[in-house]
Amino acid sequence: MITLKNVKSALLGLATADALGVPVEFKSRNYFKKMPVKTMQGYGTYHQPAGTWSDDTTMTIATMESIARKKVLDYTDIMINFAKWYKDDEFTVDGLFDIGNTTGSAIKNFFRGNAPLTCGLKGEHSIGNGSLMRILPMAFYQKAA
Ligand SMILES: [Mg+2]
Repeated sequence: MITLKNVKSALLGLATADALGVPVEFKSRNYFKKMPVKTMQGYGTYHQPAGTWSDDTTMTIATMESIARKKVLDYTDIMINFAKWYKDDEFTVDGLFDIGNTTGSAIKNFFRGNAPLTCGLKGEHSIGNGSLMRILPMAFYQKAA
């Protein structure tokens, strides 16, 4: 059942897991065997305070905000929200500190006037897993549709 409480809980879970991973992003499996993440930590990979979520939560919030406000999946509005993140640090804890190359290129293509669904890159090295990390809004959107 879709309730505001369920949506908030899902988003809080995403943001918490994301924030747990931010300080140890790019660490090896061997690192985690020796130093498992058991508490919220600060600094590390991106030198961010404990509890800081990353681009994945930011883009999820940006997508959810658009869907909640527009009541439809409006790709242009979602890209405008991504642009607000890129240019104005919206939807972040304390500003943008990391953005994937493919995501950055897509937002720049949007700034150049490309239609939202044509902004993504198509090369074999432009198929990261970022979209999977921010798929949460679609679970709720599909249920509501
Ligand atoms: Mg991230």
